[in-house]
Amino acid sequence: MGRKRILSGMRPTGKLHIGHYVGALENWVKLQNDYDSFHLIADYHVLTTSLDTSGIYDNTIEMIIDWLSTGLDPAKSPFFRQSQIKEHTELFLIYTMLITTARLERNPTVKDQIRELNIDNVIFGHLGYPVLQAADILLYKGDAVPVGEDQVPHVEITREIARKFNQQYGIVFPEPEPLLTAFSRLQGLDGNSKMSKSLNNTVLLSDSPDIVGQKLRKAVTDPQKLRKNDPGRPEVCLVFTYQKKFNPLEVNEIEENCRSGALGCVDCKAKCSAGINRFLAPILEKRNYYENNRNEVLDVLNDGETKARAVAKETMEEVRQKMKFG
Ligand code: SF4
Repeated sequence: MGRKRILSGMRPTGKLHIGHYVGALENWVKLQNDYDSFHLIADYHVLTTSLDTSGIYDNTIEMIIDWLSTGLDPAKSPFFRQSQIKEHTELFLIYTMLITTARLERNPTVKDQIRELNIDNVIFGHLGYPVLQAADILLYKGDAVPVGEDQVPHVEITREIARKFNQQYGIVFPEPEPLLTAFSRLQGLDGNSKMSKSLNNTVLLSDSPDIVGQKLRKAVTDPQKLRKNDPGRPEVCLVFTYQKKFNPLEVNEIEENCRSGALGCVDCKAKCSAGINRFLAPILEKRNYYENNRNEVLDVLNDGETKARAVAKETMEEVRQKMKFG
């Protein structure tokens, strides 16, 4: 039996931040050794929340540079744009007939998004984007999907659609399993539960050491630790969550010295910046290379789209045959 296949994707929102790394990329890099991985640039999905597509191409290139710089290997796992493989929209159309609007309206993830974004009139495409995601995954017959907790309901919708199709027309699709990302979310510098460019609370994978230092100096800490020697509470401190990730060898000492008051927040933040900068140094070096060799980035995209298109075409031929269209 061949290796299992996974499909993972991101919307092209431009340069990525350390939250993207912790929540997804770190896991993808590991998984590419054990699974046949397909990496989707979900450019049509951008339309669900914004009709402005003017920056989409540049954002795609920046995102690919970050993918390459953090260790995703396009030789193992093709990178491709959803918009360039027409089979995504074709399969999406068929899938829209296999699910009710009531089922989509019950989806807790979309409900949360609509509340968070304060959307009054939900467009059809937003309600239906988990169906497009199902097409994204099943076009490549993904056996598993690496996701955070919030995306699990979408994997369930994908499984239901696969089941419905298989029952109606004959077996074509697997029912993919969610592969939960252990450390799935990094808080923003302002303490918001989400790190996001729109909230201006990120550390980008492309930030220079000086910028990282400046950003960390403004990060929120334990509000009760007002003076350097006040005892602190690492368990309520955002900076401490970063220390756990980026300074794992020093974290016990940092915790102890924070609690005793031996460590002040200014020094602690400097240690944290240093840890993040150590992590970012090899990424920045690779980034610099790809920024100066953009033709290589375009080659990666062309190769990935050729590979993905061949798989997508084969799946759709099977679908049309089963449905007696072909
Ligand atoms: S010393 Fe460090 S861990 Fe403790 S409150 Fe300050 S920034 Fe947070």
